Order: sequence, then structure tokens, then C-alpha cells
Amino acid sequence: MENQMAVGVCRLENYQMEAVQEAVDRQFAQLSLDRLIKPTMRITLKPNLLMKRKPEDATTTHPSIMQAIIRHLKALGVPAGNITIADSPGGLYNHPAVFGIYASTGMQAVADAEGVNLNDDYSTIETACPNPVRAHSFPLIQPVAAADLVISVCKLKTHCMTGLSGGVKNLFGTLPGLTKPDYHWRYPEKADFCNMLVDLCETVRPGITFCDAVESMEGDGPSSGTKKHTGMLLCSESPYLLDLVLCRVMCKEESEILTVKAARDRGICTLKKEEVPLVGDPLRTFDDFKQPRSVTTDFLSKVPGPLRTVCRPIVDRFLTTRPSINHKMCVGCGKCAESCPAHTIRIENHKAYIDRKNCIRCYCCHEMCPIHAITVKQNRLLKL
Ligand code: SF4
Ligand code: SF4
Repeated sequence: MENQMAVGVCRLENYQMEAVQEAVDRQFAQLSLDRLIKPTMRITLKPNLLMKRKPEDATTTHPSIMQAIIRHLKALGVPAGNITIADSPGGLYNHPAVFGIYASTGMQAVADAEGVNLNDDYSTIETACPNPVRAHSFPLIQPVAAADLVISVCKLKTHCMTGLSGGVKNLFGTLPGLTKPDYHWRYPEKADFCNMLVDLCETVRPGITFCDAVESMEGDGPSSGTKKHTGMLLCSESPYLLDLVLCRVMCKEESEILTVKAARDRGICTLKKEEVPLVGDPLRTFDDFKQPRSVTTDFLSKVPGPLRTVCRPIVDRFLTTRPSINHKMCVGCGKCAESCPAHTIRIENHKAYIDRKNCIRCYCCHEMCPIHAITVKQNRLLKL
């Protein structure tokens, strides 16, 4: 089934509404996606919101793409009341926290303009994973678990832990708020964590995945990287195929993007990135797409389990990148401590401090710091 699907490519140079609408409509047409939509469906749109950022920061899914998808669904006869925008960004999952992010990222304005729902239900539904490797079930946020169709709208960004914040990783935001650090704690090895993300993807099973690759993020993503113009809107029924094509866009091997590697190892998606069928415009690729400093440093990923345990302290001491706090910048807001699964960050005199011996290098703190006061610091040996 995976092999029969394609990834649609549309050149899109900016977020001007008319151009975005044309690209979204073209994706529905060239991938024959209208067949998946029925007017009676409850449809949930899952953007990547992450934190309070403005649309032009390239950290979050741009609101114009959400608006164009909603307009297309309405044109197919889906009532606005059946459409919900929902995400569980980093941090607390409650009305003040989530609606603050909906406002800053432009989702509130889209919902107001189009009359669709912004999720305000913070309950969860435990949902079984059909083919689990790491996690047998997940507490999905209610509008995702109860939807007839989930449309995931991710953003092309690098990710300090997984390499890519694309179609599969976007679904981490279907788990409620502060349960997310628990998953980092349960699966501190990157390979295990990424297998858990594939379990989650198999559980959510988004019917359509769009990727906002107009203004993307390279370097220390998903929140502290730099904006990169890539000028495309991508789409597929398969989040795995979409991520494979994102590997091509970033000129990365499948083995370098750990969610892609996990899906391939499990036989879910066996195509090579060059074999994924493309429709639409020619794909743009970028051989200068900068990866996060942390990604090249999982030296133990190929070492068998028992030996890995023995080698870990040595590698940790001499060869591993670490989060580092710039105390001149830190304002003591506590967002890093709140998101730390190892509970190894303390706030003293309005400054954050990391007890490094307990750090599992998940980089949640780096991801959640609102003012980029946490950097990924390379060991001197790695700079040689
Ligand atoms: S490091 Fe960043 S997130 Fe942590 S307390 Fe300081 S400003 Fe807040
Ligand atoms: S200090 Fe940062 S990188 Fe280390 S465990 Fe805590 S959140 Fe993860």
C-alpha cells in the first residue's frame, strides 16, 4: 500500500493567501485527496505549534496553510463545526497555556475567520497501538482520538534529538502536555524513542500529511535554528513517504533521520528516498541544509545493549554534546525545568542550573527555552 502512494510537490514562494490556496487545491487534485473527505466527517487539523512564536519565526505551521486547507474542506461540503484545530504544544496542556499559543501562532485568527473549532477539551482517550514495538497504547488528546480523519500539517525543521521534525515527529503533539517528558524518560535511547514515535504514528494514522516547507528551519531546530527558504508545500497520504522525501530535500541519508530509520527497520516503509513517487513540480534539494550540532554524536547507536551500558560513561564524558545555559540570558522562567524528564534542572536566584550527571540529552530544555538561553555545547574533542 505504501508503495502505491506518492508525495505531491508544489512550489510556493511565500505565504500570500491566494498562492497558498492555489497550492493546497493543487495538492488535493494531484493526489486525488478529495475522495478521502465526506461532509459528515469530524476532521481534526494538527499543526506543529510547539511554543509561543509568531508565524514569521518559522517555528510553527503557518496559519495561511491551515486556512487554505479549511477552505478546501468547506468547499467540499464539510461544515465549519465539524472541523477542529488541535495541538498539544510543549509545556502545560490547559486553556491559558494552549490558547496563548493559538493566539501568537495565528491559529486563533484562522479559527475566528473560518468559524472552525479551536480545541478546548483537555481530556485524553487511551488508544491501542495496532502493531506495537515499544508502546502498546497512548493517551491521545480527545480531538485526535475521536476524529474520523486527522490531517497533520507539519513544518520542515531539523530536530536536535531525531534529526527531523517532519510528518512522524509532528504526532508527538497528540500526547498531552507534560506526559511528553515522561516518554523521553522512558525511552532515553534515541532508537527506542524513535520506535515509540513510529508506534504513535501507527496509532494516530493521519489520513493526510501536509508539510509547510516554504520557510523551513535548519541548524539547532526545532526552536533555536535559523530560517531557511525552501519554497515548497509537500503532501502525502503517508507520513513515512513524506519524511523520506524530506530526507532528499535536506540531502540526508535515511539512516541519519532516526524516525525514518525506525520505520524502515520495521518494514513499514521499505522504499529508498529516491524511489518515492513524486507528482507535481520538481523537488528542490539543499546540500547546504545545516543539521543540529547534537545529531552527529550518537556514537553508541550501533553498539549492542550490554556493551553500550559499559561504554556509556566514557562516551558521555568525552564525546557527547550537552545542553548549556547562558546565565547572562536566562530569566529564570522555569520552562526548561518544567519540561525536563530527568528533573535535573533547578532554578536558584532566578537562574537555571543543570545537574549534568542525570541528564539524558533529550534536549527538551533547549527546545522549550523561549529566549534561546540554552545552547547545544560540543565537547572540545568533537571540534577537533
Ligand atoms: S534557561 Fe531558558 S527556559 Fe530555563 S529558566 Fe532560563 S530562560 Fe527559562
Ligand atoms: S537537562 Fe535538558 S537535555 Fe538534560 S534531561 Fe533535562 S531536558 Fe533533557
